[in-house]
Amino acid sequence: LVVLDNINKHFGALHVLQDIDLTIARGEVVVVIGPSGSGKSTLCRTINRLETVDSGSITIDDKPLPEEGRELAKLRADVGMVFQSFNLFAHKTVLENVTLGQTKVRRTDKQTAEQKGRALLDRVGVGNQADKYPAQLSGGQQQRVAIARALAMDPKVMLFDEPTSALDPEMINEVLEVMQQLARDGMTMVVVTHEMGFARSAANRVVFMADGRIVEEATPEQFFSNPRSDRAKDFLSKIL
Ligand code: ATP
Ligand code: MG
Repeated sequence: LVVLDNINKHFGALHVLQDIDLTIARGEVVVVIGPSGSGKSTLCRTINRLETVDSGSITIDDKPLPEEGRELAKLRADVGMVFQSFNLFAHKTVLENVTLGQTKVRRTDKQTAEQKGRALLDRVGVGNQADKYPAQLSGGQQQRVAIARALAMDPKVMLFDEPTSALDPEMINEVLEVMQQLARDGMTMVVVTHEMGFARSAANRVVFMADGRIVEEATPEQFFSNPRSDRAKDFLSKIL
């Protein structure tokens, strides 16, 4: 579904992504882990063109990423993204947050968009918060709204960049559970996370990055019980 072929990217002198090859199949859940600064966020951001690349190609559904304009907006809608810092529209209600993209990008009529929005808010457990503003919600609730907002666009793939890192501990599980359910429902997902419990239970594949490279790819069972590279062993010894 998503194919990255020999991606390279620099920030000035920093070679932040080096020869990245990654293929994500439909319905697959890929968890990306690695030390801080290894390029995980940059990798996510290249998949929906929030970052450009220096060389290499990215295709989604066999179509190359468009450069700009309306095609790019459509692509962004096909690739749902959930960030560490929720990024909800502060001056819109929860329901408006999940209907805006549908009416603006997908040209869905307002009533249909609201119906769908409410159903999605129910699905992530915040159906009773629809008329509030983001600031009136807990972090866990806001993040679940952000997930609902991305889902409202019927994305082909969902990218999560440390979606629980900014949350208080008691709210982490409510967000991970929504993500678990999404994975069980067959959503194609790329998840950057330090939640190794989630990686073990939800991932089909773990991708370990260090210094802008994919150092290791394995099933979670293989990766956690028998990491091959010294970099991965070192990383796991620090976090497990
Ligand atoms: P973390 O676990 O801390 O989130 P990460 O693996 O997501 O780290 P990235 O955010 O992708 O790492 O950053 C990779 C490297 O690129 C870092 O050294 C970072 O300082 C650098 N970098 C990221 N964005 C930019 C930018 N816009 N301009 C210059 N350098 C950048
Ligand atoms: Mg990051």
